[in-house]
Amino acid sequence: MQGWMWWLIGLFAVGGFTTIADSARSAMRTRHERVMERLAVKQRDRLALEAAGRPPEPVCGCTHHLAKHDKQGKCHEVVEVPTAWDADRKPVRFEPGTCNCQQYVGPQPLATVYAEEIADF
Ligand SMILES: [Zn+2]
Ligand SMILES: [Zn+2]
Repeated sequence: MQGWMWWLIGLFAVGGFTTIADSARSAMRTRHERVMERLAVKQRDRLALEAAGRPPEPVCGCTHHLAKHDKQGKCHEVVEVPTAWDADRKPVRFEPGTCNCQQYVGPQPLATVYAEEIADF
């Protein structure tokens, strides 16, 4: 092969390699960005799904957790019961007492709903 041909091949190879490397790099970058974007979307979707699928806190209207209520629904949480009031009818003395709640009213955890449905049969 003649000298000028090698030179041409060398030039082409260097130029071609640079071009290929450049386009590969930019393609990689775009791909990487796309992947990151997709991951972000996936993460957001998962978070939204988790937020939507999370059962609400089983807290009763008496502000106490479902766990504080017995099977009849009566609340057993110890609360401060005012026993003395000042002139402005503000309680000044408290005694420990149990919550007056007679029935749990609030969101039922799925497990409980399921158990009650079975019990109805
Ligand atoms: Zn209560
Ligand atoms: Zn309650």
